[in-house]
Amino acid sequence: MGNHVIIIGGGAAGMVAAISAKRQGARVMILERNSRVGKKILATGNGRCNFTNIHADAECYSGKNSKFVYTPLASFSVEDTLGFFEKLGIQHKVEDGGKVYPKSDQASSILDVLLYELERSSIKVVCDAFVTKLSKKGNKFMLQTDDGKSYEGDRVILATGGKAMPSSGSDGNGLDLAAQLGHNITDLFPALVQLMLEGSYFKRIDGVKFVGTAEIIHNNKSIVQDRGDILFTNYGISGPPVLQISRIAGELLSQNKKPQLKVVIMDDMDKEQVSDMIQKRIQLAPEKSIEFSFVGWINKRLIPVVLLEAGINSTKRPVSGLSLREIESIARILTDWRFSIRGTKSWPSAQITAGGIDTRQINADTMESKLVEGLYIAGEIIDIDGLCGGFNLQWAWTSGYIAGQNSAW
Ligand SMILES: Cc1cc2nc3c(=O)[nH]c(=O)nc-3n(C[C@H](O)[C@H](O)[C@H](O)COP(=O)(O)OP(=O)(O)OC[C@H]3O[C@@H](n4cnc5c(N)ncnc54)[C@H](O)[C@@H]3O)c2cc1C
Repeated sequence: MGNHVIIIGGGAAGMVAAISAKRQGARVMILERNSRVGKKILATGNGRCNFTNIHADAECYSGKNSKFVYTPLASFSVEDTLGFFEKLGIQHKVEDGGKVYPKSDQASSILDVLLYELERSSIKVVCDAFVTKLSKKGNKFMLQTDDGKSYEGDRVILATGGKAMPSSGSDGNGLDLAAQLGHNITDLFPALVQLMLEGSYFKRIDGVKFVGTAEIIHNNKSIVQDRGDILFTNYGISGPPVLQISRIAGELLSQNKKPQLKVVIMDDMDKEQVSDMIQKRIQLAPEKSIEFSFVGWINKRLIPVVLLEAGINSTKRPVSGLSLREIESIARILTDWRFSIRGTKSWPSAQITAGGIDTRQINADTMESKLVEGLYIAGEIIDIDGLCGGFNLQWAWTSGYIAGQNSAW
């Protein structure tokens, strides 16, 4: 009979860790605080679970030492992940940007096959078991749950997730368990998250959508940009490109720096072309009011706010009266609208945690802690976070699989 491996946290990383430890011959138990495992998986990929990305490599990850992912990703790769899930019954399809989904388009099917495999392998899953104490005495780990029960194991895998979406059970408490055992926790901030912007007019444009570019500017330099569906909200801005670039904004804000957001509404034209287009529209119907002259080109609800930002006071006068300077000013807003970033939305809105257990204290070959022999660490709890597009689940599968494999004998 193999050693006894206890996994704290039945999320993506914990479940795969359990399966891989069992396959190596260990006796495995998962302790999960919720009444069921894998709750967050159901919310992923808008309910479709974007469970990996065929382009996953070290470049797609951030953290104090993001190169840490290099070795684990080579040892349990995207190919290995697709093979692992295929054997469990998941056929996959690849969509734009290399995003991989189950052919069923159901996140629940990923969870279903994992649950089936846990049961088929006789892995013990204890739910409603919130681990509040973790210590090591001699060669044994002692665990206590909040209902007063105690557990003893030869190896422990800490897979309690980060702080994003705390309603899923991952609220950062596992980071405290790690810290109590001497681990360093790097600065934490929400990532893949919406941005809150300065401005009094967001209620008026709440819900306005467009395809454009969002860019983070710091010290007048462009740091990162992305293109796609952008959405104004009553607090600021959202949409896939905004989530994608939010990490760098969060990092700069956490260092008390003041990044700006540049939004390009007309990103298929330069400023001169936009000015020319405004002039053409003026020639076409010089009698129209300034405000009405943009109808059909720009979202109606956006027009008054764009004009306000461009410094155009009276918008009811005929558009023929716009000065060249005013036209340029409107063109500037449509091609380079700058906002001060008030902050990011908080943990309940974030998809991922930036920061976590310092990777310098983890062995990249095995996922074992360098401080506590026999303690393995997997998933979002580690100071590694990926771009939006399947990279974070890939990290959970990779680190979970390796931790499970190496914890067993
Ligand atoms: C809305 C949303 C959509 C997402 N979509 C995608 C996507 O499409 N693709 C992608 O790659 N990534 C996506 N992510 C990110 C991805 O879901 C996570 O990175 C991943 O689930 C992390 O896995 P994990 O196992 O490390 O942690 P989690 O999945 O958070 O699991 C941790 C588990 O530990 C349990 N736990 C915590 N503390 C304790 C304790 N003390 N005792 C016992 N149990 C405990 C929790 O209840 C939880 O079940 C999304 C995230 C969110 C919030």
